[in-house]
Amino acid sequence: MDKTARTRKEIRRGKKSKQCHCCGKTFRFCWNCRCGFSMCQECMYENQWGMTCNGITWECPDCGDQNGYGNQ
Ligand SMILES: [Zn+2]
Ligand SMILES: [Zn+2]
Repeated sequence: MDKTARTRKEIRRGKKSKQCHCCGKTFRFCWNCRCGFSMCQECMYENQWGMTCNGITWECPDCGDQNGYGNQ
């Protein structure tokens, strides 16, 4: 029973890694838009001046949707 739970967890973790659309690298955590756009924390930090105007939401460069920083 323990084994099954552990295996399931590992598969889940593998699926969770995202590819940053900005630098092309794969990260365990990325900011995501509902349209499928992903951006890593590093790129988000570098582009923050153009992505957000209030520090609470960021605008997706792909679809222009507003996404919250506290969503994940
Ligand atoms: Zn990146
Ligand atoms: Zn989007």
